[in-house]
This record gives sequence, C-alpha cells and structure tokens, in this order.
Amino acid sequence: MPRISKLPEAVANRISAGEVVQRPASVVKELIENAIDAGATKITLSVKEAGRELVQIIDNGHGMDETDALRCIERFATSKISRAEELEHLETLGFRGEALASIASVSHFELKTRTESAETGILLRYDGGELADRSPVAADRGTTVSVRNLFFNVPARRKFLKTNATEFKHIYEALKAQVLAYPEIQWQFYNDDDELFHFRSSDMHERLDFFFGQGFADTLIEVREDNDFLSLYGYVGKPGMLKRQKNDQLFYINRRIVQNRMLSQALQQAYGELLMERQAPFALLFLGLDTRRVDVNVHPAKLEVKFEDDRSVRNMFYPVVKRAVQMQDFSPDVGGAG
Ligand code: ADP
Ligand code: MG
Repeated sequence: MPRISKLPEAVANRISAGEVVQRPASVVKELIENAIDAGATKITLSVKEAGRELVQIIDNGHGMDETDALRCIERFATSKISRAEELEHLETLGFRGEALASIASVSHFELKTRTESAETGILLRYDGGELADRSPVAADRGTTVSVRNLFFNVPARRKFLKTNATEFKHIYEALKAQVLAYPEIQWQFYNDDDELFHFRSSDMHERLDFFFGQGFADTLIEVREDNDFLSLYGYVGKPGMLKRQKNDQLFYINRRIVQNRMLSQALQQAYGELLMERQAPFALLFLGLDTRRVDVNVHPAKLEVKFEDDRSVRNMFYPVVKRAVQMQDFSPDVGGAG
C-alpha cells in the first residue's frame, strides 16, 4: 500500500494560504494590487472590525467575464503571465495566481464582477473555498471582492491576530503605501462605516499633508533623476526638519512597495553627518528600472526584491539622494540674528 496521497485542492490551498495571508492587511494588499492591475481609476476599501469581519474592495477596473470569474479563485490561475519567460520581466503587481485562491480558502468570500460588454454581472460566493452560490447580478463595470470572517476555519491563525488597533494599523499602512504610489487613482476608505478619506484629485501634496501632517509636504526635498539605467523620483526629508523618532521610509521598485535594506542603508549614508543620533530620514522614493534587472518572485508576499546587480543600483541611488540632500540649505532659521 502506498503511503502518499495528493492533498485535495482545498486543503492544499489552506496550507499555502498561510504564506500569502498572514493577517487582514495582507488581504488588503493583494486585493488592491488586483484592482490596480485591472486598471481601476477608483478604489474603495471598507473594513470592519480591523478586517476580521470584513475587508471589501470595490474597483472600476476591467472586471471579469463569467468564465474568468469562476477560474480566478483556482490556485495558480492568472491572466498576468502565461509562460515562464514572462517571470523575467513582470509589468504587473500580481503574477502568482495564488492570492484569491488563498484568501477564498480561509474566509467567506464573495466576488461580484462585470465587464464593459457584459449585460449583467455575476455573483459568486465561496465558503472556505467551496462554491456556495452563483447567480447573475446587476453590477457596475468593475469588481467587488468582499472577504468576511477571515480565518474562520483556521482557529490557530485567528488566535494569533493582534488587537484591533494593531491589525488596523497594518491595514492603514498597506493602504497608505498604495495611495501614495498611485496619485492618479481616486482612493476612498471606510472604517466601520466612517469615511476616513476620499482623494478625488491627484495632488500629491494633499496626500502627503493628510498622512504626515499639515504643512509636511513643504518640508520635503524633491528628488528627480533619469538615466539609462535607473529613474528615481520622490521626496526625502530636509535634514534640519527631521523629527527625532523613526520616520517613514517608503521605497518602491517599478511602483511596487518593497522592503530593502540596501536602499535604507544607502539613504541613511546619504545624509551622513546631517543626521542626529537616532534620526532616520523620511523618504518616499520611486525607483524605476528595467523589469529584467529585478526579481520580485522571491517571496509569496512579494515584499522583497532581488536586484540583478545590487551594487550598480546603489551606485546610482546613493549619489542622487546625497546631492539632493546636501545641496539644501539646512542651517536652522536664524530669524533676526543680531
Ligand atoms: P494574480 O494577481 O497573481 O494573477 P490573483 O489570485 O490575485 O492572482 O488573481 C487571479 C486572477 O483574477 C488575476 O490574474 C485576474 O485575471 C483576476 N482578477 C483578480 N482580481 C481582479 C479584479 N479586481 N479585476 C479584474 N480581474 C481580477
Ligand atoms: Mg493578485
């Protein structure tokens, strides 16, 4: 008798869900990425109970027809790549075809979607990954995904979630990172039915001031560089105006939020002596480089990237930031020195 058998898909999905979905904020990140990839110009996020009860994303992107809607929650089902070579130069935020399968397997999952040309939309409901309802529905063009009772069937995971305040903070940070990277998208956010923001214009200053405090945008240095190898755009804090606490540092590679030690170290070094002890500069920096020179398929959550050549990226990045920072007149205001 053989001892080995292949796990049923629902079980396999639930196991691997742990890698993609650690907490409600991971659901938020994945669903937002899908909305962006679908070309949405308006995205509304609603959460209840810090995402435990509900995470819902409404987008006005291209939507899905019925076949795709049924397919999209299957594991490794994606419209974004079809051949291995495409992994070498990804232009979309998603590509693994795992997120919806994972999320649906650990929640009560509802998908409503309609394409431009379809006469009606389609509504699908899944309980722990099992299809529970399928019906036509009136819908606007675009997609609404509602994720309820996350981890209802994974008690261990549910138990390890932190307080609502902490889980909410993670959600907020994940959302903020996208709101700052996609000014052309109108973002709206509801927490327990309260509207926390609605950005209708693409004005970056409005967003910076909203997230970091009135007048904050005026305390920033704009960074801009474009060459054959790398483009760099964004904002860093003026040395004289840094707060003592740890400041936000947001790095993006080809508009994908990433965590990267090399970049934060290079940033720190670019300020050099201008930083006081325990100071960390604010940064919101968008690096653009040839998609062939960066590997984003390092981890299921896609937060880490590997550069083909770390050193060349650093050698481009560091002097640009340094020049921008050191060129500033950072002497404290000497109002009426005399
Ligand atoms: P991936 O994003 O890696 O392709 P997902 O599991 O997140 O994998 O989504 C599977 C597929 O479902 C996507 O490739 C896309 O075709 C479709 N899809 C998901 N969300 C949306 C959306 N909001 N609008 C349109 N299509 C979507
Ligand atoms: Mg995705």
